[in-house]
Amino acid sequence: MILMRLIDSHCHLDYNRNRKDIDEVISRAKSNNLVAIITCTIDKKIDQVKLLIKKYNNYVFHSLGLHPPGYTKESVKYIKKLILENSNSIVSIGEVGLDYHWVKNEKDRKYQEIAFREFIKLSKKINKPIVVHSREAEKEAIDILEDENASNVLMHCYSGPVELVKRIINNNWLISVPTSVVNRKIHQKIAIECPLKNMVIETDSPFLSPDKEKNEPYKVIFAAKKISELKKIGLNKVADETTANAIKFYSLPL
Ligand SMILES: [Zn+2]
Repeated sequence: MILMRLIDSHCHLDYNRNRKDIDEVISRAKSNNLVAIITCTIDKKIDQVKLLIKKYNNYVFHSLGLHPPGYTKESVKYIKKLILENSNSIVSIGEVGLDYHWVKNEKDRKYQEIAFREFIKLSKKINKPIVVHSREAEKEAIDILEDENASNVLMHCYSGPVELVKRIINNNWLISVPTSVVNRKIHQKIAIECPLKNMVIETDSPFLSPDKEKNEPYKVIFAAKKISELKKIGLNKVADETTANAIKFYSLPL
């Protein structure tokens, strides 16, 4: 029997519904073939995740970023400082990027762009990959990433347009397909369009549940199963390739 290896490439273990029973969440992940979990902090509170990556050394990994709707001069400066202070213990910067869904006014959008460019520059300076949040601003985010010559990029929970998938692939970046691919048409189209060599999978838990219960890392298997069905590729191959891509992208010591 071949043992399947899965990685949840993006989730939020410090959010309420994951945090409450965190040890059970991790043990369910371990007993469901997950070999690593990348948890992403998106505000100033990183202490709990720092404890977690110590406790679950080489299993839980930390990506440090800031949710774009929260960008202010003060918060961006603070997070950049945190990134530098923690550059040895984090695997990536992110999620960072643009959010035009929540941020409507021109001035704030302009500042998001400035901050996003600063995060991209920082990721190159400390030689860490960047995990991008782009909501209703996908083209704009890609334009900026190309303009900044970003090379190690993961488009987290990329939600279209499908036409831009080719550009992402041409840049050799990754698309992270979330568990909501189980029932959301747009993610299904993207999963069909995106070759496995450019794909990783994520839960974004506790968000984007594939069912009516809360989402958590072990459910990344539901994304793998759906991708296998959509692409008519064996489940083991989907698991192997997405896991290898995540290991390489985050330079995981696995
Ligand atoms: Zn997220």
